[in-house]
Amino acid sequence: MRQSSMLLPTLKENPADADVASHRLMLRAGLIRQVAAGIYTWLPLGLRVIRNIEKIIREELDRAGAQEVLMPVVQPAELWEETGRWQKMGPEMLRMQDRHHRDFCLGPTHEEIITDLFRREIHSYKQLPGNYYQIQTKFRDEIRPRFGVMRAREFTMKDGYSFDLDQDGFDQTYRAMHDCYTRILTRMELDFRAVEADSGNIGGANSHEFHVLADAGEDTIVHSSDSDYAANLEKAVAAPPPPRAGAGEAMSTVATPDCRTIADVAKLLSLPVERCLKTLIVRGEESLVAIILRGDHELNDIKAAKLPGVIAPLEFADETEIEAAIGASPGSLGPVELQLPVFADPYAFAAADFCCGANNDGYHYQNVNWDRDLNIPAENVIDVRNVQPGEKSADGQGELKFLKGIEVGHIFQLGTVYSEPMQATVLDRNGRSLIPIMGCYGMGVTRLVAAIIEQKHDEVGIIWPAPVAPFQVHILALNYAKSDDVRCAADELYNRCQRAGLEVLLDERGERPGVKFADADLIGIPHRVTIGDRALKEGNVEYRYRTDAEATSLPLGDVFERLSA
Ligand code: ATP
Ligand code: MG
Repeated sequence: MRQSSMLLPTLKENPADADVASHRLMLRAGLIRQVAAGIYTWLPLGLRVIRNIEKIIREELDRAGAQEVLMPVVQPAELWEETGRWQKMGPEMLRMQDRHHRDFCLGPTHEEIITDLFRREIHSYKQLPGNYYQIQTKFRDEIRPRFGVMRAREFTMKDGYSFDLDQDGFDQTYRAMHDCYTRILTRMELDFRAVEADSGNIGGANSHEFHVLADAGEDTIVHSSDSDYAANLEKAVAAPPPPRAGAGEAMSTVATPDCRTIADVAKLLSLPVERCLKTLIVRGEESLVAIILRGDHELNDIKAAKLPGVIAPLEFADETEIEAAIGASPGSLGPVELQLPVFADPYAFAAADFCCGANNDGYHYQNVNWDRDLNIPAENVIDVRNVQPGEKSADGQGELKFLKGIEVGHIFQLGTVYSEPMQATVLDRNGRSLIPIMGCYGMGVTRLVAAIIEQKHDEVGIIWPAPVAPFQVHILALNYAKSDDVRCAADELYNRCQRAGLEVLLDERGERPGVKFADADLIGIPHRVTIGDRALKEGNVEYRYRTDAEATSLPLGDVFERLSA
């Protein structure tokens, strides 16, 4: 491709409203342009990267035995009603009506469509296992689209769905997909981690996320220093607490005037914060619900929303509701004689001689002890907190460490969550009807472009890993219009690369050398060859790999070998 004729509008300045490096670089290097919030046009350079990513994904999935299909973006409501998700999905699903006033949505995901296809076309155990994928546009009306294509409203996803006869078969398929994702991200030369994850509203039991490690990542991933344990913070657990110490003095009431926070109370009573328990009040299906945590611990909203009777997603009660139900304000709450369902985190339940609010404004209890001064059912002691760095890993091996990650893939064990309500059954060997076990496998194609850049860039631009780079070779021809020597040498090298099947971009624009260098750094193509009059007089050109500190001088005749090596 000749750069003068390519739609490649680079920007010198950083765009004002781009908060992360990848978004800034994608705009500056002319990969994308925004059309509306979270909706983008891909320009030729960006599209080439997408195509390379898709090619790797297709090759690896096909190799793993998955078959490509293409399902519609527009989906009828009836299918979503069968699984109850038409009601459940909420405002992230963009809904519309056709001219006959029938309800449709823009597909945020495709479980219903694939399960419908399966039940129509597949009837015998002999046709299983089946594994189908597509690379398709998704629409999710994200509440906060941000970071460019990283969290967009319209984006491209590879989504795959598997159907197995039994758990053993499914376990094999799931492992194969896990391995396949590992190969895909390894081929893209990414530093990534697979972690245990929460399943969100796709449903099912277990799931794993694949994260590209980058400081700008929205997710915190937790891993053990000494074992394979790795989980999203949403799901991570630490080792259980040590046994509770024995109870000391009798419980008593203390005045805690002007104490607004746990830290204030701890200071006033000269107690370590971990011996002050905090009481959070959330909304439940029948009443408000209290959750008790150690003062130095943080609630994990995802875990808390799974407590029995608690509304999901989690909703905190407001001050008026709390006053009405308990007769005290949020700074003075505690579990003693509280007339609400109470759940305690195991670490809070392991505290002895602790302090907590007295459900009376301006007062706390001290020397409180579980079992002696208050009781809760054993099943109400449930892990609901975020682990902290430095804690012992739950498997007893090593300590927990935190990393930031960008979720680029998510694989789920769906069980029969979709096949059962949609009656996608097959006949088994004995002619009995059997409900297949499903898995689903998502990978964010367009998010991957941003994640790659987030991990692979420096202060001047993108550093494409060769397997996804939009071009392999960038020829910068200085003074191309006026110098016959430069033009001949550049054209010859360009043609030779093309004949050899190397993807090559020739910068023959009439720009100053400084502009060409800056654009080349920004666009980040792996191999760069600079052809200028001065070096050419000696028969030389300059060669630089994107990550080399300096260019090296090479004889013109040798440079092609270097590019094709
Ligand atoms: P997130 O927690 O980031 O919202 P999710 O759990 O909703 O992701 P899935 O439903 O598992 O995502 O979708 C599969 C993949 O699609 C994700 O791993 C991600 O790479 C990509 N993806 C999801 N939402 C978006 C989005 N708004 N913009 C771009 N890519 C997305
Ligand atoms: Mg989401």
